[in-house]
Amino acid sequence: MRELAHLSSSQARAEREAHDVRLAEADFALAPFTLAWEITRACALVCLHCRAEAQPKRDPRELTTEEAFLLIDAIREMGDPILVVTGGDPMMRRDLYEILAYAVYKGLRAALTPTTTRLVTQGPGPGERGRRAPGGHQYRWAHC
Ligand code: SF4
Repeated sequence: MRELAHLSSSQARAEREAHDVRLAEADFALAPFTLAWEITRACALVCLHCRAEAQPKRDPRELTTEEAFLLIDAIREMGDPILVVTGGDPMMRRDLYEILAYAVYKGLRAALTPTTTRLVTQGPGPGERGRRAPGGHQYRWAHC
């Protein structure tokens, strides 16, 4: 398993080229190329402009961990889109790393878009603790 942040320039170029080939060959009638999953509405910042209408706590109607795994199975049966895990703030889910690890295990290219709160640096964020989380070195990070 490799860490994307440590790719050499030739490895990064090869990865971009592979991405371009996938895009050129994608059949959008069968599956999306990128899929954004709002895994929770919870976000500590609760911005007024939030498109996801974030709220301070998780909604009890959110998918359970098991339901999340089933959704990933269904996504994988459809194809292998880039899975962007977003919210709300996905870091508000305690099972986030389990879900990401399962998505990676199933062969999805996963990306995470947490909100810029302390959870990124004090929780199992993109630093050492995040790298030690299950599958933590196999998905990309961006920020809300
Ligand atoms: S930080 Fe992002 S997810 Fe959180 S409330 Fe603001 S816009 Fe919504």
